Amino acid sequence: MSRIATLENTSVHFYRFLILSGLPIFALRRIHKKSTRRASMAVDGTFEKDWQSFRTLNDCNRYMLTNEIGCDITFLVGKERHRVSAHKYVLASRSCVFFAMFYGPAAESGNEIEVPDVEPDTFSLLFRFLYYEELTVKTDAIPEILYAAHKYGIMKIVKKCKKILEETVCTENVCSIMESAHTFNDTELLRKCREYFYREPIKCLQSDSFLDLCADCVDNVISSDDLPLEESLIFERVLEWADAECIRKNLELIDSSRRHVMGKILNHIRFPIMESQYFAERVACREILSKSERLAIFTFICSDQKSKTDFKSTRRKGRCVYARSCSAKQNSRMTHSNRYKVVMRFERNGHVTLKNENLWFVGQNRRRTK
Ligand SMILES: [Zn+2]
Repeated sequence: MSRIATLENTSVHFYRFLILSGLPIFALRRIHKKSTRRASMAVDGTFEKDWQSFRTLNDCNRYMLTNEIGCDITFLVGKERHRVSAHKYVLASRSCVFFAMFYGPAAESGNEIEVPDVEPDTFSLLFRFLYYEELTVKTDAIPEILYAAHKYGIMKIVKKCKKILEETVCTENVCSIMESAHTFNDTELLRKCREYFYREPIKCLQSDSFLDLCADCVDNVISSDDLPLEESLIFERVLEWADAECIRKNLELIDSSRRHVMGKILNHIRFPIMESQYFAERVACREILSKSERLAIFTFICSDQKSKTDFKSTRRKGRCVYARSCSAKQNSRMTHSNRYKVVMRFERNGHVTLKNENLWFVGQNRRRTK
């Protein structure tokens, strides 16, 4: 009863306001009809009564978004075109990209906008931030959030994501982060990813996300002198990357396709410093390199007089060495690896230290000291 009385009072005041506004009578009827419909929705319980009072701005915005009140734009998000309704005013007031989209010289004229390259979860995360400053970021979703935040120029989210990334970067996600940094030309983040990669080269190279890198990023990583790995390890993994790239590009899995997708990457694999046996058994028997390239590299490897090849032949700054077997005995002992001319010390706790600072040790001491 009291609800209806309040509604009637409100209606009278509202109508009086409209009459004073001097609008033509047909416009007044239309506005009154709309306002009555909205008010009856409130009475029916569709909206909470007087939800505005005692709420903060953020809470009111949250309520408007969640209940899709007064929305004037709809996004069709993701491959499944999930519908997300919003308000142009709010979005434009928080993002320069949305501002240009709705009020710029080339503003969108329709009321529906397709967003096929962002997933609904990520899109609603952006909206929660734009409407009421809520930002909860899961580490594994950061690459996609970064992409979306860059796309819509929401730099506060970008900054927060970068901070989390720097704190949570791991061998499994460093390549994904690197790809995001590359996409948005974030040179600082790219540099940090590369530095991390070179600190944990084996695990990063073997991570699943390495196979998803673009050709430029693969080239960027493996061309550096700072990558402390054997060329054979790099070559094997780049071959796997090439297979993945061929599949992405619908190319046949043959060596000519692999060479095609590798492009300039191939020139940054240092074939001339590979061991002759490995080169003969794993590289020369394939069609990745041309006959003349194989001959030139063989000549370089086997001859004392180093001829020029198209491939870099300088050693990288620090190479990881796999110890295939260890001869450490009880207590700490020194052992020699003639192959790499390095002295390894096996400690009681199973740790291994090297005397030659230009080499890093990777692997396990099979006969751990007690
Ligand atoms: Zn890339």
